[in-house]
Amino acid sequence: TKLKVGLLFGGRSGEHEVSISSARAIAKALNAEQNANKYEILPFYIQKDGRWLAGDAPQQVLGSGKALLESENSPNSQTQTLERWQFPSQVAEVDVWFPILHGPNGEDGTIQGLLTLMQVPFVGSGVLGSALGMDKIAMKMAFEQAGLPQVKYKALTRAQIWSNPCVFPKLCDEIEATLGYPCFVKPANLGSSVGIAKVRSRSELETALDQAASYDRRIIVEAGVVAREVECAVLGNDQPQASVIGEITFDSDFYDYETKYTEGRADLVIPASLPDDISRKIQDMALQAFAAVDAAGLSRVDFFYVEATGEILINEINTLPGFTATSMYPQLWSHSGVAFPELVDRLVQLALERHSPAS
Ligand code: ATP
Ligand code: MG
Ligand code: MG
Ligand code: MG
Repeated sequence: TKLKVGLLFGGRSGEHEVSISSARAIAKALNAEQNANKYEILPFYIQKDGRWLAGDAPQQVLGSGKALLESENSPNSQTQTLERWQFPSQVAEVDVWFPILHGPNGEDGTIQGLLTLMQVPFVGSGVLGSALGMDKIAMKMAFEQAGLPQVKYKALTRAQIWSNPCVFPKLCDEIEATLGYPCFVKPANLGSSVGIAKVRSRSELETALDQAASYDRRIIVEAGVVAREVECAVLGNDQPQASVIGEITFDSDFYDYETKYTEGRADLVIPASLPDDISRKIQDMALQAFAAVDAAGLSRVDFFYVEATGEILINEINTLPGFTATSMYPQLWSHSGVAFPELVDRLVQLALERHSPAS
């Protein structure tokens, strides 16, 4: 009998649409000839308001590639309307979950906690790896402990930024003194560059901090670095493997949301043109980063490579990276000899392996 794969996509984060694209690509791969006799897809779509839909609705979203608004949850479809804390009965049929949700509530350990409580295997990192990989402050502390070089940064909270008007100028002074300009202001728990600002002056810094605080309770400010952006894909559990290195090139000021998701704005160069020893060092650092946050299954690890000095700085780990047909993660593996359908198969098998009592 076929293994029922609960493909879980959509979600409440700003990366809802990216999740739909990723899920479409994964569904196609699970239906590919080499996987179709092994797996049956049970799709679950999480609407932007957090409600789970099973049956026709997720099929419709996978088919159209378009988000289903809360109001479009048509009464004549077989989909019953559930409360936010209720889950469709089809949940009970799932043999292994494939969550492909990006950002908060998907990539940060929350859904992983729910799936852990269900006692059903799932693809990707568990609660700890997901949470550490999502929060840029906690992630940087884990990397620091592992001895991985990274940019200088300062961690802040919303309360520090908003609650005391006397403290705020001192905060800005300190950032200017320790990090300088340009620096990057980021909400600690987002992705796809949402809410990130590159700032070059005091007034830009003040505005950016205020704005970042509206996205998240935790905010990070990083020293800006001029570097090539290179990425490495990791696959595995306790003996993970690193892919060839890829590079992202673009003309915009930085790799912002628009550059990421507007066709033709950024190019992926795979393999990146790098000296062998640099490539090997990046792969090694990617595996160290994977272990440092206790990731599992898959991750994409992003780096800054300062060509002039040969310096490699880790930027971040993404435990549920973009997974569309053209995304960096599957592209890196296809250039490393693992084609998309095989990659998806391996990830499901890794989920089963991790869940088995021996591991
Ligand atoms: P992802 O979609 O990969 O999860 P993200 O939202 O987590 O992205 P980052 O990777 O932290 O965001 O930053 C987005 C982009 O901003 C980087 O790819 C880079 O172009 C630029 N950037 C971020 N931090 C720095 C920095 N310290 N110095 C220079 N550029 C930076
Ligand atoms: Mg990220
Ligand atoms: Mg991300
Ligand atoms: Mg990134």
